[in-house]
Amino acid sequence: MARSNGCSNLECKNGVTPGVILIGGGRNSAPLINNGVMQKTGMRWGWIRCTACRPEEKDPPWKPKSLTQEQIDERRRWADAKAAYVEPQQKRLEKIKLKTPDVPTLTPSTEPNAELMRMIEQNDKLMLQISGLTDTVGKLSGQVADLLAENARLRTAPQEPQTALSPPSGSGETPKRRKSRQIAKPS
Ligand SMILES: [Zn+2]
Repeated sequence: MARSNGCSNLECKNGVTPGVILIGGGRNSAPLINNGVMQKTGMRWGWIRCTACRPEEKDPPWKPKSLTQEQIDERRRWADAKAAYVEPQQKRLEKIKLKTPDVPTLTPSTEPNAELMRMIEQNDKLMLQISGLTDTVGKLSGQVADLLAENARLRTAPQEPQTALSPPSGSGETPKRRKSRQIAKPS
């Protein structure tokens, strides 16, 4: 895609391009970031001077980025929105790798796998134990429900002898039944 101003930077728009800006630290000391030092202080997207068509002496030579049109649009949106800059995970990992060159981070070896397998095995065992415990809990709660039912039955039980003890219980029972039948009848 050819730029109207003939800039070789596809992202360039009238001499400015989406880039990351350091926030904080004063205007003069806050450098435009594309080529600068990444710091942990706040960074955000914004429109910065295009070093392809408006280079200054201090600028390193501009290098074209391999960006898709979608990426370019996205970066432009971020610049418009002054979105907070989040360093890509891949870049961060690369940095960590660079900082610790002696530690082989990505070389696969059998040791971690063996350990992983052991951990998975342990996990499986724990899961089995947990499912066993869940069964026990289920059984116990069943027992508790039984006990509660028993308890309820026992609590209502003492009333039965009381009514049984009262002498007119036998005679009192029959009218009760009649009553309930009368109620049940739709009248
Ligand atoms: Zn430009």
